[in-house]
Amino acid sequence: MTSRRRRLRNAGLGVVIALAIAVAGLQLSRSKTFQVFGGIHARADTSRPLVAITFDDGPNVTNTPPILAVLRRHGARATFFMTGENLARHQDIAASVAADGHEGANHSYSHRRMVFVSPGFVREEIEHTDRLLRGAGFTGDLLFRPPYAKKLLVLPYVMREMGRKTITWDVEAHDTETQDAAALSSNVLDNVRPGSIVLFHDGGPPKPGTIEALDKVLSVLRSRGFELVTVSQLLAAGT
Ligand SMILES: [Zn+2]
Repeated sequence: MTSRRRRLRNAGLGVVIALAIAVAGLQLSRSKTFQVFGGIHARADTSRPLVAITFDDGPNVTNTPPILAVLRRHGARATFFMTGENLARHQDIAASVAADGHEGANHSYSHRRMVFVSPGFVREEIEHTDRLLRGAGFTGDLLFRPPYAKKLLVLPYVMREMGRKTITWDVEAHDTETQDAAALSSNVLDNVRPGSIVLFHDGGPPKPGTIEALDKVLSVLRSRGFELVTVSQLLAAGT
């Protein structure tokens, strides 16, 4: 083989390897339970009857106050993954989430997909949102949930550098797809088990179905003997 042909063959091999890495990377970036670096939690490994209900994309002027009222009525604690943009707009609502004893957590500032972004961009998004969460009255470790659960390479690297836990979920209501309360409550109640982290949304358009389903889910979970705790409390109970 001439050296030119060898160079061409090597270049071709390089392209194939690069493509294989890119395809593998896309697969990994879709996974909710695998992350290249750092700790990711989709649930807690526990047999105790504990469940963590979570709400994404708030605080929201229409949805968050009635959700707080339902949680209060059931004596349930929950975790709210808030964006910095919405925290900046609704500090008063965030403060009432904190005053009710719920956990406030970081869902980035702008809710951009965090796949092909620089470490500096990720760090600034997270730190800016942390400052707003502190301003609303949240104390202790601040958990993080990536927008769209995308977390490949740069994001996990920054999370490990910052010593932060990344939280996803193992049960979802699918309340951005439908507001049929019966469907939402069965999506949760058919799949929930000890240690589950359940995903609802309080951000975005009005969510009457979410609020109605939450009321039912909390009643049924209580009747099954579950305690509703924050994600940090759930992880502390896990092994
Ligand atoms: Zn989100």
